[in-house]
Amino acid sequence: MQVTELIRKKRDGGELEHAEIKFLIDEYTRDSVPDYQMSAWLMAVLLRGMIRAELAALTESMLHSGQVLDFANLPAPRVDKHSTGGVGDKTSLVVAPVAAAGGLYVPMISGRGLGHTGGTLDKLESIAGFNVNLSTAEFGRVLGQCGAAMIGQTADIAPADKKLYALRDVTGTVESPYLICASIMSKKLAEGIDALVLDVKTGSGAFMKKEEDAVFLAELMVETGQRLGKKVVALITDMNQPLGHAVGNALEVAECIDVLNGKGPDDLRELCLVLSAWMFLLGNRVINLEEGRKLAEEMIHRGKAKAKFREMIALQGGESRVVDHPDLLPRARHTVDVSTPCSGYVAGIMCEQIGTASLLLGGGRLRKEDQVDPAVGVVVHKKLGDEVRAGDALCTVHYNAEERLEIATSLILQSYSIEPQPPESDRKIVHQVIGDSKP
Ligand code: URA
Repeated sequence: MQVTELIRKKRDGGELEHAEIKFLIDEYTRDSVPDYQMSAWLMAVLLRGMIRAELAALTESMLHSGQVLDFANLPAPRVDKHSTGGVGDKTSLVVAPVAAAGGLYVPMISGRGLGHTGGTLDKLESIAGFNVNLSTAEFGRVLGQCGAAMIGQTADIAPADKKLYALRDVTGTVESPYLICASIMSKKLAEGIDALVLDVKTGSGAFMKKEEDAVFLAELMVETGQRLGKKVVALITDMNQPLGHAVGNALEVAECIDVLNGKGPDDLRELCLVLSAWMFLLGNRVINLEEGRKLAEEMIHRGKAKAKFREMIALQGGESRVVDHPDLLPRARHTVDVSTPCSGYVAGIMCEQIGTASLLLGGGRLRKEDQVDPAVGVVVHKKLGDEVRAGDALCTVHYNAEERLEIATSLILQSYSIEPQPPESDRKIVHQVIGDSKP
């Protein structure tokens, strides 16, 4: 097979065979296809798109470029949840222990903060000692023992994606929904799961600002997962404002502990319950979503989910006392309120700016080599539709260094639009559901 022929075929809008895509990915993974040829092919995919069979072939080839974990020996279904990323998007730390407490196995391979969005690994690392770099054997051991384990991508999992993602990052080809789909699904399916619940964010704090783009990506991911024999469902969820109140790693862990204690903000608790209910349904633990929700509520109410979180932290080397004493989490030295100069109602929040403010304070990385400050971030007090009076605190900024504080606070202030009338909106957290529970 000639790589130049495969590039020309895609460039001219042709459809590649399964064997052609597999050849390209295999040869690229073993460094036999140079980056310049792969870049040309990726750009052709970005411009021409793919039919569903090509996308399934790409995902499958990337999935099998490395180790595919096999947890078939475990006595209950393996189910994961994946979010496309948002601001204050912390549900993994709640739904994994809830699902494990309810009898599922959750082998979760997560990422770090990307752009203005936070990452599960950075949140977990705000717990002293928590090790996200377990070997595959250790990952399996923690999973088998407690029902949930959370690690970062290893060198052996979907290595083709690792190379392709780095190449896309510098060739203007990140944005293709086909390439995003193959990238996410190849990694998720390598976890050895039976079912996957996707949380596809849309709105001002999401990567997919337009709902139709989120729906398109969700449909691609659901269909690709189902073609590869998995149960997959996608929830299109609201990211027009931060989820919950906390944005920033340790602050978010503390808020998750609140939810595991049966408290916490309504929107966060609601989304965690809905996602857990879907996990229970796809994992055959319940016969409908209502039962799934009840099971999730029960796991929280009886303290079983909290106990699972404590157990998972301990098994991964972390300071598990934080679950009962969240004051042991890192805390910023200073706080300052960002107050509104006018009265009215919160009509809009440019949510991405709140994520960027947290990033600038040190809650994320501006460059790859940056160290994340686990303590810093933003606590959002006023959300969409809330009434405010001049002088009210919209948010509280938690910070350790003055550097970039001013720009962070002004970003937060500018992100709010305050209007004299309350906005008309029903503000549902789940906008729609794509796919169903059948493979
Ligand atoms: N997350 C991924 O893992 N891959 C993408 O391409 C985009 C987001």
